[in-house]
Amino acid sequence: MQAQKQLSPKPIVVQVVLDKPLSQGFDYLWDAEKLGALPEIGHLVEVPFGRAISIGLVIKVSAHSDYEIDKLKQVRQLAPLPALDPALLRLMNFASQYYIHSLGETILPSIPQMWKKTGEWEKIPNKLAVLENKKNKPQIVGDGFISEDQLNPDQKNALKVLINEAANKKCFRVILLQGQTGSGKTAVFLNWLSSILVDPCAQILLLVPEINLTPQLERRIKAYFPDKVMAVLHSGVSEKKRGIAWYEAMTGKAQIILGTRLAALTPMPNLRAVVVDEEHDSSYKQQEGTRYSARDLAIWRAHDQSIPILLSSATPSLETWLAAKSGRYEYVRLDQRAQGARLPRVHLINTRDPQNQFSPGDVGASKQKSLVSKTLAHAISKNLAAKKQCLILINRRGYAPVLSCSACNWLSKCTHCSAYMVLHKAGALGKRSILSCHHCGLVKPIPNFCPECGNADLKTLGHGTQKLEDAIEEMWPEARVLRVDTDSSKKNKGAEALFQKIHDGNVDIVVGTQMIAKGHDYQNIGLVAVLDADGRLYSADFRAAERLFAQLIQVAGRAGRAEVSGQNGGDIYIETQYPEAAVYQYLLRHDVDGFLAYTANEREEAKLPPFSYQALVHAEAKNLDKAIQFLTELKSSLKIKGVITKQLKVYDPVPKTVMRVAGSERAQLVIESDNRKLLQEALEAIDQQLRQDSQGRISKASRIRWLIERDPIAI
Ligand code: ADP
Ligand code: ZN
Ligand code: ZN
Repeated sequence: MQAQKQLSPKPIVVQVVLDKPLSQGFDYLWDAEKLGALPEIGHLVEVPFGRAISIGLVIKVSAHSDYEIDKLKQVRQLAPLPALDPALLRLMNFASQYYIHSLGETILPSIPQMWKKTGEWEKIPNKLAVLENKKNKPQIVGDGFISEDQLNPDQKNALKVLINEAANKKCFRVILLQGQTGSGKTAVFLNWLSSILVDPCAQILLLVPEINLTPQLERRIKAYFPDKVMAVLHSGVSEKKRGIAWYEAMTGKAQIILGTRLAALTPMPNLRAVVVDEEHDSSYKQQEGTRYSARDLAIWRAHDQSIPILLSSATPSLETWLAAKSGRYEYVRLDQRAQGARLPRVHLINTRDPQNQFSPGDVGASKQKSLVSKTLAHAISKNLAAKKQCLILINRRGYAPVLSCSACNWLSKCTHCSAYMVLHKAGALGKRSILSCHHCGLVKPIPNFCPECGNADLKTLGHGTQKLEDAIEEMWPEARVLRVDTDSSKKNKGAEALFQKIHDGNVDIVVGTQMIAKGHDYQNIGLVAVLDADGRLYSADFRAAERLFAQLIQVAGRAGRAEVSGQNGGDIYIETQYPEAAVYQYLLRHDVDGFLAYTANEREEAKLPPFSYQALVHAEAKNLDKAIQFLTELKSSLKIKGVITKQLKVYDPVPKTVMRVAGSERAQLVIESDNRKLLQEALEAIDQQLRQDSQGRISKASRIRWLIERDPIAI
């Protein structure tokens, strides 16, 4: 007896969280001898869970358990990784609480797949060693270096504010760098980062909204920091590369982490500064799982770690702009285009004015011409004659948004969604023409006859990029036309090759979706046209106008970038039925601040964000009535419990804009308060209440799938 006691030391119990909607962690025994190490908080482990094997993260180490020690199962394996650093775990804890998701659901999806395949764990050290020895990795060639000395006076001033006394001390700052497109913001923040990376261990995080923007920025970064290891993290990077980039970030080897929103959650033990480029972009909001805002989390992270964070944009989000105006954030501005070019002239084409349209008497007026107004067609011809490129934007991919029967009014509705199936002509998504649902992915062959009445005369309604491309090719047969949308970029294994064609001047007219609007620094675009802006003018979503304005400023910024001072700054044409709308009127004057002030006023009067805070409860069921009923019951019980007060408003449940998707019908409940804390408490109460009767996030009684979303960006 005596001897045995000496032999068995105190048990080691670890608490592990899993990627499951379960609020608690689970206790396991840790056999230090078998696992070859003592447990640490932040260790990634393999554990038995139910009848399966799961990957989890250690969040607590102790000698006790509330359960019987003898009945606890053992940790099976320890990942060949150092523990995640405490700062990252603090960030994850915050995100989990704030966004009302379990800690495991928040952490585990942020870890690359490569590290969650336990069968591979044994082989990883070997793989890494091989990689280490492989010195001749494909090298990116640096390009676009502009030194501190080369900066223009505006840029120099901006840089001086960034590198001030405070920068030398470790302290939290949020800086808004606002400057029109092409004003040299990137050149300024790369010089700023350069001053931070003087510290031989420092790591910096640079977030961009879209993967299409990384290659160009990668080359610019390389030009500044040829010797530093850069980790690129986004959904377009292969699993293996992502796994290695993440590993290099977490071990401090990679000092520059460039990536999209998911990179905001990368472990970086020596993080010293963060840049969020195009901070206003809605891509920073995660729309699945833990629905976080990468920008907001990055700000929290900077605050927690006492480091500076720079938000850069030509059209800041309303909340950031107001914070800078009020002095809560530092405010740095660049008001000239770096290469001296003027801003493009804005032209509003009133499509209701017959003078702007082709009439039947016009030479060669064809059906195709109805897709482009006469005024715009003339401008395009003139721009082509001047040997400049044209960029034509339409926010709809495919050939036509719907197919219809002229005899019985049948429309190509998706059988699973409350949406139409879009017609894609051969060559876009495959060898044959198809109908495709952009909500659930359903693909069908094009019917030869109307499925309702048998009529063979089926017509397309409206137009998308493909139809426009056809029309443009017909109208300017000499011009080289390129279509850029997710379909054409898939076909070309990514958009990079398409962008390169534009850069190389091998294209005269680009037809594309908003994909082409962002960030790219094209040098020879003389004309930009936007064809369907109105659709987003009067949307149910109160943020639609703000987004449209930002997008129009962005796309206008693609025109006339490299002109010599005082010369033509390019032209942007917007076809609209409502030229008097505020969005267009402020755009006419390039008045970003005016538009934001106007929008702020509107929102303040209506008490909408950022003058209040919102959350949604989503409910999804087999039929809408059930989903609405579920939310109505939730609302009543909140009323009874006294959660709904003067300061916390709960609206009536409503169907979502696209109500039916993939066979499920969806409704939502908006909760609003001007008090963040009250809202948080209410959401926690709702979460608790719903969880009591649910398995995960599916209600036991009615099989409703529910989800709470904090700070939604679309209502
Ligand atoms: P932004 O980030 O504001 O869009 P960039 O930093 O990308 O602006 O600059 C726009 C263009 O001007 C780029 O081609 C860049 O290389 C160039 N540029 C920036 N600063 C200077 C400068 N001081 N002198 C010359 N060219 C510059
Ligand atoms: Zn019919
Ligand atoms: Zn569908």
